[in-house]
Amino acid sequence: MSLTSHDDTRMHILVPTINEEDGKYLAMKLDKDFSLTILEGTLDEVDKDTLARTNILLPFIQPHIKRAQLETMPRLKLIATRSTGYDHIDRAAAAERGILIANVPGYGETAVAEHTFALLLTLSRKMQTTYDRIKEGNYSVEGLQGFDLYGKTLGVIGTGAIGLHVIRIARGFGMEVIANDIVQNKFAAEVLGFRYTSRAEVLSNADIVTLHAPALPSTYHLINRDSLSGMKKGAILINTARGSLVDTEALAWALEAGILRGAGLDALEGEELLQHFETSASNSDQDKLYQATLALQKRQNVFITPHVAFNTTEALRRILDTTVENVYAFAQGRPTNLVKLPELVTV
Ligand code: NAD
Repeated sequence: MSLTSHDDTRMHILVPTINEEDGKYLAMKLDKDFSLTILEGTLDEVDKDTLARTNILLPFIQPHIKRAQLETMPRLKLIATRSTGYDHIDRAAAAERGILIANVPGYGETAVAEHTFALLLTLSRKMQTTYDRIKEGNYSVEGLQGFDLYGKTLGVIGTGAIGLHVIRIARGFGMEVIANDIVQNKFAAEVLGFRYTSRAEVLSNADIVTLHAPALPSTYHLINRDSLSGMKKGAILINTARGSLVDTEALAWALEAGILRGAGLDALEGEELLQHFETSASNSDQDKLYQATLALQKRQNVFITPHVAFNTTEALRRILDTTVENVYAFAQGRPTNLVKLPELVTV
């Protein structure tokens, strides 16, 4: 699908990497006031003239928006990303060019929190093995014993919108919850019945640790050999936040060493390279990461999903609606949901 409407008197919006249905929805919402180029392909597939007259870019989390791409769009004034995370955008380069960045906060807390439990229950009830066996007509229960979530301690790193919804669900299962955040929400802790403590205590006391902090230099490889060594033996790690929070090689080591019982991952380090990875074209760091990811992929106690935690009908509609609101707010001179300019990890 590629939808283009040309009208040089109106602001031009470029929407790459979008499926046909969502593209049509955005077109229906925006095309009376803006000229549009909407395509399923990436920015690399857009011609020079279209890039040159683009004022507003509505990207998704992949591929990454790098400095060189921003240079092809001299009239770009707003990047309204169709996501909560914005670590896929070179914010330093955008700031230098006076380009604002808006995101979609809070669209997916229910979807991502529910997916967190999809990963956890898959591991706690050995669903992968069960699924494989039943497809082969094998109804043996041998080795399928799981464990209750009731009464277990969940450790939550990051108690923002998603982390708090995870806690709400966990309390429904009858789990105890301990949490760590650089900003404590004492009201939520009281209402939902959980306790804040240090990161070290969360890691050493939790039966399951789930990550809900953003990708920042301060959270880069928050889970590494040291922190994994301090985790409760036989714990489970769930990451639906960002791949950069977990050192993949250290995770593969901890699983092999039996420190962890399992891992559920919706976000992987370097995930943008995984779909088309070519060993020969990579540098040695990328290759090491790829090999470590392959080692995880092969393990029966690791369940990986391809960054789909947000991917529900309801959440996607909320993303598109907020993106449209971000575009109109900017066009009317009162931009909303602007991303501040704190520290940033370039991945
Ligand atoms: P949020 O901003 O509401 O919450 C993030 C929380 O992390 C905040 O409370 C913040 O104080 C805390 N935090 C920051 N640095 C920390 C640190 N060093 N240690 C502990 N806590 C720290 O964000 P959210 O909407 O809850 O989303 C959380 C993350 O989930 C996002 O940043 C994004 O990377 C990820 N996400 C993933 C998907 C997916 O599909 N897998 C979808 C949406 C969001």
